[in-house]
This record gives sequence, C-alpha cells and structure tokens, in this order.
Amino acid sequence: MQDLSIVIPLYNEAESLPELHEWIVRVMRERSYDYEIIFVDDGSTDGSWEVIRKLREINPAVKAVRFRRNYGKSAGLNVGFGKASGRIVITMDADLQDSPEEIPGLMEMMQKGDYDIISGWKKKRYDPLSKTIPTKLYNAVTSRMSGIRLHDMNCGLKAYRSEVVKNIEVYGEMHRYIPVIAKWAGFNRIGEKVVQHQARKYGTTKFGLSRFIYGPLDLFSIMFVGKFGKRPMHFFGVLGTFMSFAGLLILGVLSLQKLLYNIGGMANRPAFYLGILMVIVGVQLFIAGFLGELISRNAPERNSYKIMEEL
Ligand code: UDP
Ligand code: MG
Repeated sequence: MQDLSIVIPLYNEAESLPELHEWIVRVMRERSYDYEIIFVDDGSTDGSWEVIRKLREINPAVKAVRFRRNYGKSAGLNVGFGKASGRIVITMDADLQDSPEEIPGLMEMMQKGDYDIISGWKKKRYDPLSKTIPTKLYNAVTSRMSGIRLHDMNCGLKAYRSEVVKNIEVYGEMHRYIPVIAKWAGFNRIGEKVVQHQARKYGTTKFGLSRFIYGPLDLFSIMFVGKFGKRPMHFFGVLGTFMSFAGLLILGVLSLQKLLYNIGGMANRPAFYLGILMVIVGVQLFIAGFLGELISRNAPERNSYKIMEEL
C-alpha cells in the first residue's frame, strides 16, 4: 500500500496542470513520499487529457481516468476514490487555488492524530466577494444543521483515511457535503487545518450561481436520507398523523358547536376549511410515508451497514 494518493478532479484546466504536477512532484521528492496522483478528467474539451497523457509519460506515479462527458466534480471524486490505493487520500482542485505545500502538514496531522478526515480551511480566501459572503452563510447553516463544526465544509483540499473514501459514495453535487456524508457513515473524527489559498491563475470558475440554489436542497436531501432514509414512516407518519388529528379535532369542535348550540353556517367559518385541509394533507403525508417504506423495503441497500470490526 502506498503512503498517499492525491485525487484531482478537473474540468478544462489544461493550463494549470503542468505547473500543478511539477509542484506536487517537488513536494513529494522533498519528503520522499511513496505516492500516486490520480487525475480524473471530467470530460474536458480544452486538451487537458493530452496534457495528462504527457505527464504520465514522464512520471509513472501519474494515473488518470477520462470521462466521456462532463459529469461534475462529485462524479470525479467518486471515481478517484475508487481507484485510490494509498493509506491516506488527499483531494485537491486542479486550478492551483489549493497549494501542494499543504500536503506534508495534512499528512503529519493524519498520521499523528486519530482522524478520519481533515478538512482544509481557507481562512484567508482569494475569491470574489460574491462568493465569499454567501459561502460564510452557507457554512454557518451547514455547520449548525449537521452538527459538524467546520468553517469551510466545501474546501477542495481534504485528507481522508483510505477506509473513509472506500465507504462513502459521492454523487450529484454532494461533494459540498462530504464531511456530512462521512459522518452519517460513522466517520465522525473530523478535524480542520488552516490552509493557504490562491486566486485562480488560469481559466474561470466552473460553478456559477446555481450553487446557491442547489446547495441548500442537497443539504436537506443528505440530512433527510441520513436520518430517515431507512425509516421514512417515522418522519411522514408522525407528521401526517399529527396533522390529521389536529384537522379532525377542529372539525369535531365545529360539528359539536353546530349540534349543541346550533352555531350554523359551517361553510362560512375559516376554521372549517383549515380542518378539511389538514385532514387531507395529513392523509397524504401518511401515504407518502407508506410509499417510502415500500420503496426502502425493496431497495438493495436496505440491509447494508458500515461494519467497523469483527472478531
Ligand atoms: N471540476 C470538475 N468538474 C466540474 C466542475 C469542476 O472536475 O464539472 C473541478 C475543477 O476543474 C477544479 C475543481 O473541480 O479542479 C474546483 O472547481 P472550481 O475551481 O471551478 O471551483 P471554485 O474554486 O470556483 O469553487
Ligand atoms: Mg477553484
């Protein structure tokens, strides 16, 4: 087993790659690590693959996978994780914003401390304000919701124990929440290390404004699946039952008033409509939970658990 696998997802980063490679190799030589670099070319159209091919010719530690089309950063990481054979896996962006000089520090912290993941923290960021301000808010919300105290959840520079990357699955846009995914898989020793950050030297960012729309939705999905994925009825059933009963209660009171005191014109009373609405929505929530149960009962992962040790 190697000491270290460096996984680098990239999309149209041809200009950065030679510089990045050279820099990584320099750091690796200084520390004489036994390493591999795994480039995952996420469907680049700018000649990145040709650059990687040349790098591979001069350095056998370079390994690479090329996607037929652009699938997104999460897909790149997931495939890279599958290929990584190092004891420690470090991910970094290809655009030279993350510095390879941070690798030895991360390695030492991983080797000394008892960590599953160490996440980089770009304390001083070199990005436009339109990005840094929403990101602060996003980090605060994610940290609060997930209970993971990180300042910079989505930092591309992270170190993992090999076991972690072999036990989690990242897809869609979920790379923003890898610590949350890992925590749900039972890897909760998550550390943080302040890292250097640079402004983008070549090319442009690959993520537009959409990140602010999809990001929060993905967080809800992850939290929900993590908590109720194996027991949807506990969520929908409780909510649905509660709501139906409240609706029935309202309707009951209205009916009693009508019968006993002849307070008429039920159809003119706002509470009447609220009661009906609550019963209908409540029943639908209940049914949603029931369907969720049927689906999860048939899901292939219904009995898959992360086993840590056996004797
Ligand atoms: N990336 C990728 N596939 C994509 C988009 C981005 O592999 O569809 C890579 C990109 O090449 C870079 C990393 O993900 O290595 C981070 O992207 P970027 O620097 O554009 O994000 P930002 O730093 O602006 O958040
Ligand atoms: Mg970047």
